[in-house]
Amino acid sequence: MSGFYAPFEKLIVLSSQISLKMGNFTKNSEITKQDIMGKGFYKVPTAKNEPVKSYAPGTPERELVLKTYKEIFNTKVDIPLYIGAEEVRTGKTAKIVVPHDHQHDQGQYHLAGEKEVKAAIQSALKAKKAWAALAWEQRAAIFLKAADLLAGPFRQRMNAATMIGQGKNIFQAEIDSACELIDFFRFNAEFMAEIYNEQPQSDETAWNRTEYRALEGFLYAVTPFNFTSIAANLPAAPALMGNVVVWKPSDSQVLSAQVVMEVFQAAGVPDGVINMVTGDPEMITNIVLDSPDFAGIHYTGSTQVFKGIWKKIGERIDTYKSYPRIVGETGGKDFILAHPSADAKQVATAISRGAFEYQGQKCSAASRCYLPKSLWTAIKEYLVADVQSFKMGSPEDMGNFINPVIHERSFNKLEKYINQAKADEQAEIVVGGNCDKSKGWFVEPTVILTQDPHYTTMETELFGPVVTIYLYEDQQWEQTLKLVDSSSIYGLTGAVFSQDRYAIVEASKALENAAGNFYINDKPTGAVVGKQPFGGSRASGTNDKAGSKANLMRWISPRSIKETFVPATDYRYPFLGE
Ligand code: NAD
Repeated sequence: MSGFYAPFEKLIVLSSQISLKMGNFTKNSEITKQDIMGKGFYKVPTAKNEPVKSYAPGTPERELVLKTYKEIFNTKVDIPLYIGAEEVRTGKTAKIVVPHDHQHDQGQYHLAGEKEVKAAIQSALKAKKAWAALAWEQRAAIFLKAADLLAGPFRQRMNAATMIGQGKNIFQAEIDSACELIDFFRFNAEFMAEIYNEQPQSDETAWNRTEYRALEGFLYAVTPFNFTSIAANLPAAPALMGNVVVWKPSDSQVLSAQVVMEVFQAAGVPDGVINMVTGDPEMITNIVLDSPDFAGIHYTGSTQVFKGIWKKIGERIDTYKSYPRIVGETGGKDFILAHPSADAKQVATAISRGAFEYQGQKCSAASRCYLPKSLWTAIKEYLVADVQSFKMGSPEDMGNFINPVIHERSFNKLEKYINQAKADEQAEIVVGGNCDKSKGWFVEPTVILTQDPHYTTMETELFGPVVTIYLYEDQQWEQTLKLVDSSSIYGLTGAVFSQDRYAIVEASKALENAAGNFYINDKPTGAVVGKQPFGGSRASGTNDKAGSKANLMRWISPRSIKETFVPATDYRYPFLGE
């Protein structure tokens, strides 16, 4: 069942006739057993955001996560591909690199070849019929179970794998791989029920129903390294709506990706519904996109990769059975704008957290700031003091606010831009600026000050702990609004700080299209499922807001059904009368 059909109001008299017809229909059709399982309009448990645990010294969760961390760190893993019921080991492998200790031997993951990618597609298509026909409440139950498993027995395994594999401190891991992912599972189940409840009107002559069908074919999920929750939600959201998926995680997220597959299995996601393949992203993507059954992509990652995939889909448009759904959340160059009326300490704190938590590797991280000259001395004092107080190192040491960046490519890129800023006349390093890759990929949180609002680090997405500040003349507020709006190709997140309501209104209007997530007197990071649905437009993506009804709507194809009870038997309308 893929809809809660509104009972027609005036034809109660005919209800016996309808059930009789349904009885005949089910007897004679090929419909599977699962279709008729729904015997009620079930209410999904009301979704509430998962409380964030504190991990303060002496708490049981701190002890448990550290114990689990040690166990995982000291065990070499061998991560297979998950294709249908099989764990496939191709023998072609790559090393799992731990960002804070790149010489540590954490084990390996297997690389798919052409054969395995094709097998994953076939396995998804094989699972399709039974899964799409399964009653919605059964699918919801599986993902609600996944949420509870993650909130309980899997929580610290998921957090520890994320800390080690993606270089997150416990707080960053907890808000991502535990809380946000639990929220995605729970809220999406509720949103699915809301969608199914949206039914058309009927009248005395016919019962109108909308059936929210899964898409024909299979979906492809391509996910980034920086959020375990996104990595798991991108295949899970379409699957919840009755679709089958081939999932390609990032090479830099495989350690927690394996735990995600374990949660799916433990929750009862049937074999073949979500297949995980790792390996050469371009080769895997080409094979997937060549399939006529490719029904859509759920992507998060950098802008250029997404544009490349979009082009390839366009080139193959004649091969597909349906128009593929293309959903992608991509890069950002997120801003903090302070009005002269802003509170300096609040602005400084927003930069410290918004630019540097998780080493600035959040798509929402602040990376360009526009501050009035009159506030700079005060903001600078607070900001420099904050940055100098940050401790940097391994995620295992809970005193560390800052951890490594994800990989050597990212380290080298950031070091290059920092060195360039040291050399360039238009830029100066206010604080930070050191990089050390001897043991892990450590880049000091760095604040660059520039006199050029179009300086390269004001406009290029660096995806690391580097923020650039431009100071504007206090009386140039209106020009600065135009500058903020026009000097980036992206439109993901942004924040305005002001105590002046007129200035807030002005900024909200002038920057209407500059950010899909707009913050007033708050940092531009930390969106919560169900509270601030996330996504941006312009070069930042299709803005289908992960963790919202709008996103789930992309994974279904509604069918309108009109059932007439007493069909017409004469073609003549009254106007034809003599
Ligand atoms: P990335 O683009 O390097 O990788 C993303 C995914 O694409 C990975 O699975 C990767 O293997 C795959 N990929 C890489 N090259 C490919 C190719 N040629 N063909 C097909 N697939 C390919 O991004 P990343 O470093 O993992 O993540 C950081 C990026 O993601 C940043 O740009 C960030 O802004 C963005 N991001 C955006 C959001 C959002 O909601 N807007 C959220 C998280 C991350």
